[in-house]
Amino acid sequence: MSGDVVTELVGELGEGAVVTSRAAMESYRRDATTSTQPGAPLAVVRPRTTGEVQATMRWASRHGIAVVPRGAGTGLSGGSLAVDGAVTLSLDRMTAIVVDPDTRTAVVEPGALNADVKKAAAEHGLWYPPDPASFDLCSIGGNLATNAGGLCCVKYGVTADYVLGLDVVLADGALVALGGKRVKDVAGLPLLRLFVGSEGTLGIITGATLRLVPAPAPASTLVATFPDPVAAARTVVAVGRRLRPSMLELMDGSAINAVEDLRSFGLDRDAGALLLIRSDAPGTARTAEVAEVARICDEHGALTVFHTDDADEGELFAAARRAFAGAVDRRGTVLHEDVGVPVPRLPEVLAGIRDIAARHGLDIPVVAHAGDGNCHPLVVYDASDPDSVARAQAAFQAIMRLAISLGGTITGEHGVGRIKAQALPEQLGPDIMALTRRVKDALDPQGILNPGAVL
Ligand SMILES: Cc1cc2nc3c(=O)[nH]c(=O)nc-3n(C[C@H](O)[C@H](O)[C@H](O)COP(=O)(O)OP(=O)(O)OC[C@H]3O[C@@H](n4cnc5c(N)ncnc54)[C@H](O)[C@@H]3O)c2cc1C
Repeated sequence: MSGDVVTELVGELGEGAVVTSRAAMESYRRDATTSTQPGAPLAVVRPRTTGEVQATMRWASRHGIAVVPRGAGTGLSGGSLAVDGAVTLSLDRMTAIVVDPDTRTAVVEPGALNADVKKAAAEHGLWYPPDPASFDLCSIGGNLATNAGGLCCVKYGVTADYVLGLDVVLADGALVALGGKRVKDVAGLPLLRLFVGSEGTLGIITGATLRLVPAPAPASTLVATFPDPVAAARTVVAVGRRLRPSMLELMDGSAINAVEDLRSFGLDRDAGALLLIRSDAPGTARTAEVAEVARICDEHGALTVFHTDDADEGELFAAARRAFAGAVDRRGTVLHEDVGVPVPRLPEVLAGIRDIAARHGLDIPVVAHAGDGNCHPLVVYDASDPDSVARAQAAFQAIMRLAISLGGTITGEHGVGRIKAQALPEQLGPDIMALTRRVKDALDPQGILNPGAVL
């Protein structure tokens, strides 16, 4: 039966768009989540057009076949992991980007990489700000589906802040075009916003109109080291109260050592934590902002404070921060946390994570988009040791519970995906879970869109 069904789809899309060989499907089964095993997909579909996505969804709803949308597979919550018997719908061949300098927009297909949108915008002196640390690997479709954040979000906002229009193919294959090249538009319910961050559970994004802004001013980068993460976090709270830097990242001592083990970036291995702070304030305001940040760091017990106006040198520190996830992957299997708390609770969440690591006898290096209160503690464990697995799972749950108890969230930017779906009711409670279920059922009555993710 499944062979006939796939043959029917091949008949509609042509052979090149439907992959069924096990070897060829292998590279589409996983995302960047190492803690969960993927399933065995029925087929991988690689459409070239929105029409082909519509045909795939019409076919899937006709036969009740589940569909897992997939961008570049860099997700850290298992959102695009293959599901047994489902079709993985990879948007990797839909990569067109058209920049319109007059409206300061880019009309993009979902498979375009974030980095390529930035490059295309830069050719017109424009900038697409959202910058996940994976920006050179991840797709705009994935960014939209997870409402991705990044390093400059502390000043410039997240993906949702740059979306003016979306083309979405619904579960039954119908296409809706929401919004467009207009800065303001409040006609009707804000449906566009519903799809941003919906993790492939409500529809397939096949096109987006993104807002671009003028290129940023030159930046200065400041690096300050601290005896421990809590002192660094108190500094973040003080900086955030008075200033608006364009980057405010934290790495704890274990994170510093993980990236230095990968490659020598010249970070101080003995520091308990470091802050990476950037200012792109215009003109002399930048010098004043950097001086004020340095003063606050000193006031909060910084061990060293260094700053540079050299763009390449500043970029090297940002590269060290971006290398974190890959560096920690070398230490073992990893459960990726993405908890967020109100910024003033940052010292408490970091102290709590340190206690949880000690209590469970685990290495949990932490980086944070600290200015947003968004922490990435990575729970490292040995997947071949059942005791280590049990301790890691317990620590993973404990960290999410800690964030909720501080008025926070289980995920600031990576999404719930499959690895945090169990914890979602604890954060949202029964009423919001029921409302979420009603929205899901209205848009996807057969439950074929990304089953197991979020809900
Ligand atoms: C080294 C590293 C650093 C990272 N740093 C950050 C960071 O700073 N900030 C951040 O937010 N994330 C970060 N991430 C996580 C990841 O890169 C983001 O979640 C990214 O947005 C995923 O994009 P993707 O194209 O890889 O999507 P995928 O992993 O393929 O998919 C992610 C989710 O989106 C859905 N999806 C994908 N495309 C579509 C579509 N067209 N329509 C509907 N649903 C779709 C999938 O079903 C899945 O649920 C990092 C990951 C790595 C490996």
